[in-house]
Amino acid sequence: MISFDVEPKYQEQLDWARAFVREEVEPIDFLFHQDQVYNPANQSLRAILAPLREQVRARGLWACHLPKSLGGDGYGQVKLALLNEILGYSFAAPTVFGTAAPDTGNAEIIAHFGTDEQKRTYLQPLLDGDIVSCYSMTEPGGGADPRVFTTRAIRQDDGTWKLSGRKWYSSNARWASFLIVFAVTDPDVPVHQGASLFLVPREREGVRIIRNVGTVGDLPGTGSEGYIHYDDVVVTDADLLGAPGDAFKIAQFRLGGGRVHHAMRSVAQAQKALDLLCRRALGRYTQGSLLSEKQMVQDVIAECWMDIQQFRLFVLHTAWKIDKEQNYKSVREHISAAKTLGARVVVNTVSKAMHLHGSLGLSNELPFGEMLMRGFVMGMADGPDEAHKVAVAKQVLRQYQPDEAEFTAMHQVTQVGNAMDKFATELALPGEKSPWIDYVRELQEQGLYGH
Ligand SMILES: Cc1cc2nc3c(=O)[nH]c(=O)nc-3n(C[C@H](O)[C@H](O)[C@H](O)COP(=O)(O)OP(=O)(O)OC[C@H]3O[C@@H](n4cnc5c(N)ncnc54)[C@H](O)[C@@H]3O)c2cc1C
Repeated sequence: MISFDVEPKYQEQLDWARAFVREEVEPIDFLFHQDQVYNPANQSLRAILAPLREQVRARGLWACHLPKSLGGDGYGQVKLALLNEILGYSFAAPTVFGTAAPDTGNAEIIAHFGTDEQKRTYLQPLLDGDIVSCYSMTEPGGGADPRVFTTRAIRQDDGTWKLSGRKWYSSNARWASFLIVFAVTDPDVPVHQGASLFLVPREREGVRIIRNVGTVGDLPGTGSEGYIHYDDVVVTDADLLGAPGDAFKIAQFRLGGGRVHHAMRSVAQAQKALDLLCRRALGRYTQGSLLSEKQMVQDVIAECWMDIQQFRLFVLHTAWKIDKEQNYKSVREHISAAKTLGARVVVNTVSKAMHLHGSLGLSNELPFGEMLMRGFVMGMADGPDEAHKVAVAKQVLRQYQPDEAEFTAMHQVTQVGNAMDKFATELALPGEKSPWIDYVRELQEQGLYGH
């Protein structure tokens, strides 16, 4: 039986988290640019975050996506989805709850593939929220296709590696203590077998952040998407995450649950936009009536509401399937679809809310611009929509075989003929029937049926 119910004790946690995010965490969104909440060196921010994080820890909700072995509660994906729906109302909330990307995914892969030394150096401070990290994979030459990556790590005679290349859109590089760098280590095999991940301290010689790129609307220099040159950076086997050639195996592992959490946070963003839209529609009078009384506005409200409901149920169903099957691979198409739908639903709902607010909606005094950008980002970061749709289509197609019949399995003439054979006795009885029967019978009598 499909159910998204949770036990009363966890429901209490959700109720607490909802009120806490609204009252204590959302105000942070108005004080810091969304990139700034990742900066662990910001004294004001630290002073605000520390007591809030304490409360989250005391409730047992800090980094609760983690397995029990790493201090989490080992919650299933439905529970985490419901929590992330609440966290999605504020961009600071994931930082307050220890679930901010890319640190969550980075922590997961170090926990699973890291050595004891790597876990001591990187994982523990990351889990404690003392440092932030960066995942450095996309290159200026392309991000959606790893076959174009040119960053190389070349083994030297002394056993070390020399890492060289350029990376682009490495989120939070400027705040990060270390970067997980994706490099080709064996160019003679397909990249899926010949790429490796290195844990590179930010201060290591040769790591040069050329620019901190912003997203649309950010002032120059305020962004946190690092454009980085790795100039002959010396790395050793101790810096390798997993074995040489394991980059893809590890990267795939990283993206399972995180995408579902992201999708649920998108549900919240879309719902927040719809909340604003409805309140405005009920309060704004123009052209002889309230906006909410105009059918074109009602159409927008109904369409947005239906989109959000469908999307929300789809994501929860995906989470439920993961819990049931305990296998991310078997729900690959669901996860890709959830990510793609999230971008679409957020962009659509926020655009509608922005438009309905008229000039105020387009001003920089409401948050729609940032919300809209987050929707667009959702459709690009962590693999663009097209790549996810290709993944969905491939999984869907696996369930089918090509038609053997030349005129397809549902060809009317053939199907009518088969049904006539099946119900020959009944059809001999009187009663009105489809004209197709006479037509097929005629073809049969003329010897033309089946050609
Ligand atoms: C805010 C943000 C944060 C990011 N953070 C990180 C990060 O921390 N680390 C990191 O390594 N990367 C990060 N990225 C990069 C992201 O992963 C890439 O932007 C993404 O993989 C696409 O690569 P690209 O930008 O080079 O576009 P390209 O690969 O050049 O794609 C160009 C266009 O082609 C489309 N396209 C791709 N494949 C197909 C296809 N099969 N059919 C049709 N069209 C297709 C794309 O949708 C896009 O419109 C981030 C991006 C953003 C926007």
